[in-house]
Amino acid sequence: MSCAGLIHWAFAALVLVGAGFHADAQRIQLALPIACEPGHTCYIQNYTDLDPSRSARDYKCGTLTYDEHNGTDFRLPSLAVQKAGVEVRAAAGGRILRIRIDAPDGSFTKSGREAVREAECGNGVVIEHAEQWETQYCHLAAGSVLVKLGDKVELGQPIGRVGLSGLTEYPHLHFTVRHNGVVVDPFAYGVRPESCQGGQSLWLTALRSKLEYQERAILNAGFTTGPVTMELIEDGSAERQMPSASSIAIVAFVRAIGLKAGDAQWLVMKDPLENVIAETRSAPLQANKAQFMLFAGKKRPPGGWERGSYKATYVVERDGQVVLRKDLELML
Ligand SMILES: [Zn+2]
Repeated sequence: MSCAGLIHWAFAALVLVGAGFHADAQRIQLALPIACEPGHTCYIQNYTDLDPSRSARDYKCGTLTYDEHNGTDFRLPSLAVQKAGVEVRAAAGGRILRIRIDAPDGSFTKSGREAVREAECGNGVVIEHAEQWETQYCHLAAGSVLVKLGDKVELGQPIGRVGLSGLTEYPHLHFTVRHNGVVVDPFAYGVRPESCQGGQSLWLTALRSKLEYQERAILNAGFTTGPVTMELIEDGSAERQMPSASSIAIVAFVRAIGLKAGDAQWLVMKDPLENVIAETRSAPLQANKAQFMLFAGKKRPPGGWERGSYKATYVVERDGQVVLRKDLELML
């Protein structure tokens, strides 16, 4: 082999290695598009629907999606958290390709679907990234968008705040990823349509353990002073009404997401002497529930409340196994 031949082969090898890196560089690496801690201060309510038919399944073949849902929903635990302000951030560097900033907050819940026709995303931003990638951010708060068409943004840069604009019933960020104009699931890029596993995560490596799939999660849990409704949990007032020694009732409550048909639940409250003072049991669910609340309470006894530690336990059981549990404590 001549010297020229050797150089030629070395060059060919370099090109091949380069091609390998190039293919990898084409896969976008995403930062979290919202300033919260998944599983602690926000929760993934829905993933991308990977089922091409009229039914729906997420990338784990689970129930955390609905038909034709084209993104990931990062849900805040309550309106109180949303009102306090949670930043939406660019998941990668790029340029603002499309934008809408004129949608009011809460129009869907007030006026129904017609009010948000053609504007389901509400106040939204689309960022164009290198290599034909795009990310889209929906339901931003009215008046919160911080960028303009054509602006360059960096990874992690705040672009607005989570709101209630467009087709949304609860505060969340809807986040869509597209490559070459096609929606992809950032949790399972390239997954085969019929598969329940595989595909590649597009999230930055440091994020992947934080974004691990949770079949069920507890969105809210606490003690309050009276009967609980979904509205009182959603607007944050159930959590604010903490019982004291003079309260006329002590009520433990929980709201969970991702419950499945067949899940049985119970919530038990004990007084400082370990006596069960309230208990609610829910029969196995007939259908999957995107969200479900349970509460158990006790009116103040004639002699007043025993001082000390009140404990409540919430358990979801399935086939005799505990699949979700939360322990709560209140000091009086
Ligand atoms: Zn969504």
